[in-house]
Amino acid sequence: MISDPSQKYQPACIVSNPERAWPGKRLTSAPRWCSTDLRDGNQALANPMDHERKLMYFNHLVQCGFKEIEVAFPSASETEFEFVRKLIDQDYIPDDVWVQVITQARPDLIRMTMESLRGAKQAIIHVYNATAPIFREVVFQNSKEQTVQLALDAVGLIKQLCDERPDTTWCLEYSPETFCFTELDFALEICEAVKDLWEPSESRPLILNLPTTVEVNTPNVFADQIELFMRNFSDLTHVTISIHPHNDRGTGVATAELGVLGGAQRVEGCLFGNGERTGNVDLLTLAMNLYSQGVSPNLRFDDIKKTIEVAEYCNRIPVHPRHPYAGELVFTAFSGSHQDAIKKGFANRLEKGETIWNVPYLPIDPCDLGCAYEEVIRVNNQSGKSGAAWLIEQNHGLKLPRSLQVDFSEKVKAFTNHSGCEMSLAEIWQLFRESYGVVSQPDLQLVEYESKSVAEEQCIFAKLNHKGREIVVQGKGAGIISALVNGIKHAFDIEINIKDYSEHTLGLSTQSRAITYVEIQSRTEQSFYGVSIDADSLKAVLQATLNAVSCFLEQ
Ligand SMILES: [Zn+2]
Repeated sequence: MISDPSQKYQPACIVSNPERAWPGKRLTSAPRWCSTDLRDGNQALANPMDHERKLMYFNHLVQCGFKEIEVAFPSASETEFEFVRKLIDQDYIPDDVWVQVITQARPDLIRMTMESLRGAKQAIIHVYNATAPIFREVVFQNSKEQTVQLALDAVGLIKQLCDERPDTTWCLEYSPETFCFTELDFALEICEAVKDLWEPSESRPLILNLPTTVEVNTPNVFADQIELFMRNFSDLTHVTISIHPHNDRGTGVATAELGVLGGAQRVEGCLFGNGERTGNVDLLTLAMNLYSQGVSPNLRFDDIKKTIEVAEYCNRIPVHPRHPYAGELVFTAFSGSHQDAIKKGFANRLEKGETIWNVPYLPIDPCDLGCAYEEVIRVNNQSGKSGAAWLIEQNHGLKLPRSLQVDFSEKVKAFTNHSGCEMSLAEIWQLFRESYGVVSQPDLQLVEYESKSVAEEQCIFAKLNHKGREIVVQGKGAGIISALVNGIKHAFDIEINIKDYSEHTLGLSTQSRAITYVEIQSRTEQSFYGVSIDADSLKAVLQATLNAVSCFLEQ
């Protein structure tokens, strides 16, 4: 890098738009979407898609609700040409979907491209030529007049070929390449000329696509360019203004959103932002941004995992774990304070039965994309008391008392600090069961017992198995737990007290089981916990007490 970048780089052009209206506008409806995954996205792949992949992707785009799909660059290769034929000949295109194909403004290529569309019910033929000064002057050495003539020759030929194929409903798309650094008056001049020649009508509409093929400016400048273009265009009847943002500055999504505020009615892009260099604008993010503001995007991503699977298989590029709305980690909280806030948000939502989504750290409900809540909270050594407890509640139905949550979180911390890794759900559950005696053969097990009330007191006679050794205990107390504890104190010659116990049911009422949590304290007020699950609630209480005692004995 150089110390003074102004020696090498100049700021991109700025347009003057003091009457700009877009900053005061809001996005209140979705634009028309055009997926160019199979064309712009595909041509950026090291290994372009074969027919199997293209067809899988096409079908998935249809399923997501795309009505305009750029499917190929038919003159670029036989694979591309034959794919368009396959879609038409084998009837893969639903009646309400427009396929789009792109061509350079050369007569032979236009003829071949039109030929690929033979028999289509409806089609968008997309033609482009270079209009920006750097291309006119450096690459092609064309004057402005020659550049306009090139566009008109192409559009004239397309129009003639469309006239010869009246069975297809045609739409022309014209792109001045690259709009964002073409002089605005020249972009207007060439688009006006194209419009005048094409004569857009209801049955033969026109799309003027204004691409940001290389993104060079802040999104506000692009919004000004779009607004100025539309304000100065003579007649927009049967003309749709489309944008095609790329993402060189990392602001493709913002450029698209501000472009729509500036007046654009249609957006071309790719799922997950695939495309040349830094990619095309990400249509999934644009759609979900609208959705999260209560605006229907007219696209559906109910099964985001399926969408990711299709894109990763076809593009052979992984979706980043932090990709907005889709990445593996985007609905996940590891940190204790975030987990706690999310847990409270969910509890509040449940309690009040709210329909409006308002959960901390989660801009949308992961369920809407077919994700499970288990993925929301994950546990590592950054996690607090809520994380593991929440996972146990969500997956096993246990509502741990607060003090037990704290005790268990210390065990989880010790485990994750030792491993240095995230803990899986299965590992958390196993650690919980082993820590509190929820196992088939606890160290101190209730074998059988009898109890009865004498006067105001409960008496218990119980046979226990302590690590293979049979022990008999007898005790009395105000309740059955204290009777058992008194018997144990005597049998083991230890000093302990019951600090707390609670219980609730698990599962549906007819086959529900009881779960009991018992906290005992030593003479030094150290706590020990036991948990037990049993169809018989009294057995659950007694075994939970024994599990807590077992922890005390093991200390
Ligand atoms: Zn592009």
